Amino acid sequence: MAGMVIIGAGHAAGQAAASLRQEKYEGPITIIGDEPHIPYQRPPLSKQYLSGEQGLDKVYLRPEKFYADKDVTLKLGVTATRIDREAKTVELDNGEAIEYDKLILSTGSRPRMLNIEGSNLNGIHYLRTIADVDAIRGEMAAGKSLVIVGGGYIGLEVASVGVEQGLTVHVLDTNV
Ligand SMILES: Cc1cc2nc3c(=O)[nH]c(=O)nc-3n(C[C@H](O)[C@H](O)[C@H](O)COP(=O)(O)OP(=O)(O)OC[C@H]3O[C@@H](n4cnc5c(N)ncnc54)[C@H](O)[C@@H]3O)c2cc1C
Repeated sequence: MAGMVIIGAGHAAGQAAASLRQEKYEGPITIIGDEPHIPYQRPPLSKQYLSGEQGLDKVYLRPEKFYADKDVTLKLGVTATRIDREAKTVELDNGEAIEYDKLILSTGSRPRMLNIEGSNLNGIHYLRTIADVDAIRGEMAAGKSLVIVGGGYIGLEVASVGVEQGLTVHVLDTNV
């Protein structure tokens, strides 16, 4: 039995695997994720993880042991590059092909890239992943100036952390 394969190792994937076991699914479950982390929740990234109040243990949906205990295989740091529906396989960028009976796509979303002159300069970050926040945190220091493009929830949460940490914060938004 090839079992259940889940592409994308975010919140949806972690919860899907947990729910399958809770509902007594007994076949193999494999989660494929391109980030090097076990499934995690993103809300703390722009709040307590950015401010340093919470560590990765609070960001991860469940401890790593959960997946071992529930017999869920994690393939992390690899990208699913092709699905062959005839052969029922998922191909990975490391050359592996994984068979599936059922496939779940939980590949989430990505920030819109800012395609303007200068958008590739140093000191410019997007905020979506743990790696993004680690890079941003490394550059946040009292007295520095922080410009945030996008004044939605995430932008304003980051602004709040920036102000608390003594940065001068500017929020740019097209809405007036
Ligand atoms: C900073 C931030 C703060 C947020 N705060 C809130 C909040 O306060 N409240 C709220 O309700 N929501 C919030 N959200 C939104 C919430 O986090 C998302 O709705 C949630 O992450 C969606 O989970 P997901 O598992 O569907 O997708 P994702 O979390 O995007 O996970 C998908 C994963 O799949 C991976 N992937 C994609 N393609 C492939 C591939 N081909 N091969 C392997 N892996 C792949 C991606 O890299 C990613 O790791 C926030 C989001 C962010 C970024």
